[in-house]
Amino acid sequence: MSRRAVVIGAGLAGMLAAAALSAVADEVVVLDRDDLPEGPEHRKGLPQGRHAHLLMAGGLGSMEDLVPGVDMRKHLLAAGAHEIPLGSGMAALTPEGWLRRWRHPGPSMLTCTRALLDWAVRGAVLDSTGVVVRKARVLELTGSRQCVTGVRLSTAAGEEELAADFVVDASGRGSRIVTWLAGLGVDDVREKTVDAGLVNATRLYRTPEGAGRFPLTMVQADPYQGRPGRSGMVLPIEGDRWMVSLAGTRGGGEPPSDPDEFLRYTLELPDPIVGRLISGAEPLTDVHVSRSTSNHRRYLEKVRSWPDRLVVLGDALATFNPAYGQGMSVAALGARELARELRRSGSGLGQPGLARRVQRRAARPVEAAWTMAVSQDVWYPGTRGGSPGLADRLVTAYTRRMIRTATGSYTAASALWDVMSMTTGPARLLRPSTVLATLSGPPLPAAVGAPLTEDERAVLRRLDRTGG
Ligand SMILES: Cc1cc2nc3c(=O)[nH]c(=O)nc-3n(C[C@H](O)[C@H](O)[C@H](O)COP(=O)(O)OP(=O)(O)OC[C@H]3O[C@@H](n4cnc5c(N)ncnc54)[C@H](O)[C@@H]3O)c2cc1C
Repeated sequence: MSRRAVVIGAGLAGMLAAAALSAVADEVVVLDRDDLPEGPEHRKGLPQGRHAHLLMAGGLGSMEDLVPGVDMRKHLLAAGAHEIPLGSGMAALTPEGWLRRWRHPGPSMLTCTRALLDWAVRGAVLDSTGVVVRKARVLELTGSRQCVTGVRLSTAAGEEELAADFVVDASGRGSRIVTWLAGLGVDDVREKTVDAGLVNATRLYRTPEGAGRFPLTMVQADPYQGRPGRSGMVLPIEGDRWMVSLAGTRGGGEPPSDPDEFLRYTLELPDPIVGRLISGAEPLTDVHVSRSTSNHRRYLEKVRSWPDRLVVLGDALATFNPAYGQGMSVAALGARELARELRRSGSGLGQPGLARRVQRRAARPVEAAWTMAVSQDVWYPGTRGGSPGLADRLVTAYTRRMIRTATGSYTAASALWDVMSMTTGPARLLRPSTVLATLSGPPLPAAVGAPLTEDERAVLRRLDRTGG
């Protein structure tokens, strides 16, 4: 009898889960309510796709493992993504000062539009596996509280049931999984939301002549001053464009949608570098604003009795304040856990307890990302759903000291990059060498002003129309 797996959602989590399932299922059907574009184009079902999406090394590494025979890094670079070494390719102002740039590049991240990333990953999965995508909106799960047996879906032709030996919900932030589970009789899902009220505003510009190699530039928000957070970032994307993404928290930090106000916001950040860079650049789009940015977690791994043959991954499982750039990597790491458990269980899609084990393992990267995001977000004024507790105060005191050290210590900086990149868990920050470096403080003085080369300073001066 042929074994069918159904995946709800053709975003990153869905396509990567489909790749994992294709190794053991005879048929993998991905259902998405959206029309998926033929090229790297924005689509309705991914409203966040207009904003900056940094793909960390941990996420990319998982993708490499998941999609058979595809060198995903090369594939994405060939499609137009940029590779940014965190150690040498970034000018970043943290709450504790500018990070130095080092000769050693450290781990890298990829930057491109989300449209390009999804299109390239989807293409790679479809070309290298037998996975098929079908347009349909899933309405609910079928089965019982012991075992899921498929989905009920709606298409232009009407409603139908699709039987499945395994179902993955990867339907994103708006997933109805809690209602669907309740429909099966599973009603003890605990949820938590911590919401700093972050608003994102993004605009694309043509990369100015001669500025193609300018480092990715970011002015980070400072959660620790009792004021709303405000941040700005210029990152290179495909097609010789800059994506300029601003983000600010509730109560006065929110970036504007008006183009003139957009520039003013960048100039009022703790350093005006983002505004100086874009003051003379040619805008290519309007300003796009979005507000769905809360940290939201469903503790599915803690449900008393988890149904067999159902796994929930990606944003359907947990979402994070996007300022920390983790969601896609957590989605990819979760899909890799699915692949690993499937391998361990032989070919048994229906093996009792398999889905529960995946759910528990997928909770590990969620926990790491959640702690990183929430321990900072609780400090912003007006954050709903959380306030700093003793543990947050301890984590914060150590992290701030570590970031201060990282402004002038390669050892501390590389520990930070590893954790940010999700190539390793937060325990990396407590290794003896890192703790020692943190306690000793930075061996080099903090950089005064943005760490730019002479050539880059000349580019900045040439682009600057602010008179600054
Ligand atoms: C402003 C912003 C910026 C971000 N920046 C970053 C970043 O820099 N780095 C990073 O790693 N992450 C970032 N993220 C997070 C990232 O966008 C998500 O973590 C990621 O999209 C999760 O992928 P997913 O596949 O789980 O969900 P999605 O990408 O949202 O995909 C869900 C899919 O499910 C489909 N769907 C929904 N309901 C149904 C249904 N009932 N039936 C059928 N199909 C359905 C949708 O059409 C969609 O295609 C950012 C998020 C935001 C909001």
